[in-house]
Amino acid sequence: MAARNYDIPELRRLDVAHHLPAQANYGEIQALGGSRIITRAEGSTIFDGEGNAILDGMAGLWCVNVGYGRDELVRTAAEQMQELPFYNTFFKTATPPTVLLATKLAELLGGDLQHVFFNSSGSEANDTVMRMVRHYWNVSGQPKRTVFISRRNAYHGSTMAGASLGGMKAMHPIGGLPIPGVEHVAQPYKFGEGFGEDDESFYARCAQEIEDRILAVGPENVAAFIGEPVQGAGGVIIPSKSYWKRVDAICKKYGILLVIDEVICGFGRLGEWFGFQHFGVTPDLVPMAKGLSSGYLPISAVGVSHKIVEVLREKGGDFVHGYTYSGHPVAAAVALKNLEIIEREGLVQRVKNDIGPYYAAALSRLESDPLVGEVRTLGLIGAVEIVSKRGTNERFTGEEGKAGPIVRDACIRNGLMVRGIRDSIVMCPPLIITREEIDRMVDFIGRALRESEPALRALKAEVKA
Ligand SMILES: *Cc1c(COP(=O)(O)O)cnc(C)c1O
Repeated sequence: MAARNYDIPELRRLDVAHHLPAQANYGEIQALGGSRIITRAEGSTIFDGEGNAILDGMAGLWCVNVGYGRDELVRTAAEQMQELPFYNTFFKTATPPTVLLATKLAELLGGDLQHVFFNSSGSEANDTVMRMVRHYWNVSGQPKRTVFISRRNAYHGSTMAGASLGGMKAMHPIGGLPIPGVEHVAQPYKFGEGFGEDDESFYARCAQEIEDRILAVGPENVAAFIGEPVQGAGGVIIPSKSYWKRVDAICKKYGILLVIDEVICGFGRLGEWFGFQHFGVTPDLVPMAKGLSSGYLPISAVGVSHKIVEVLREKGGDFVHGYTYSGHPVAAAVALKNLEIIEREGLVQRVKNDIGPYYAAALSRLESDPLVGEVRTLGLIGAVEIVSKRGTNERFTGEEGKAGPIVRDACIRNGLMVRGIRDSIVMCPPLIITREEIDRMVDFIGRALRESEPALRALKAEVKA
């Protein structure tokens, strides 16, 4: 579709005057003269109001798995809106797309995960998790089990519960978080926190910290452990399979529920339908969002084990929780169609056997760059660590934090959207990205690193002075 003729300078002016964007520094946005206005997109490319084509290395925000411009999803939404644009699930009522989507998700999740609760966002899904888990333990006769164990740099959303479960230090002072009953332990961040250490001993140490915390808090007080298979927003932190096997075993040893947050990893990102399938663990609850609808409409879900639902049916009484838009029929219909596309086009297998390995090989070319300390990928997610000295994990300012945004801005200037997280850039392209586009991504990053070098070296000097 051609771009409409927007008045971009006026939109940018109005953006500053009236719009407060998410996760932003409002002074900075004002100084910039407003946000970059994105007007349209096709395949794996977004276009801004100035006419720049930008390769979308972030699949929107880790979500546009099937790519942009899918007419099928547009038609599905329009048809469902005509037939039934809205109905709720409060009044002992449900709608066909909602029931069918729950059924499809139960099939994909497999095993004991046969029940699904709907919400509109990943954050809301984790609020549901927190309330459902605590309610479950309460009616099970173990009301002291209220504590959630999570990890530093985990991301579980931005609501009061989501940001509390998350382990992002910068988020906690905003709103007086975390709320009580959340404990944060080590992240399995080998490059940052176990550099030079033997893999096996590092990951064993990270898992052991979970067991130690459980014992310190008292197992009788611990409700659940929550973790992303691969931490996304925290910097694409990819643990070993042995790490997850240990965490799974620790949870089972103490009867603690395992919550695997699949908001990013779900729906093919890691080369399986779900990240927990790649790592070979068996969660009790599975929050998911983003790729569920490829971002075409807001919808999230929580997969819940039959073991939990049996207790809720028997002893749970009213589960006084849920949202106006829980199971929204239009969002559910679009999600269902999105899953059909992923299945029909074999996108999960494509990530595992074809484009994922190609992506890994292409990005690894950056490892010879003097500014690159590590390239890590799994499926179609990845990170490039920027260091001041090759072969080390030394940062440009002597501490973590400044290099990522500098290289990110250079990538965007070159025509590639990435995120800068502390001293890395991270990528998460649509599952339909082509080999040629991946090669372009690698070229853009290489060029951005060269262009960033003076600013990065100046950063170091600035700190020394
Ligand atoms: C994005 C994200 C969330 C929050 O989802 P929202 O839709 O932004 O509320 C939760 N968990 C993970 C792992 C995420 O990446």
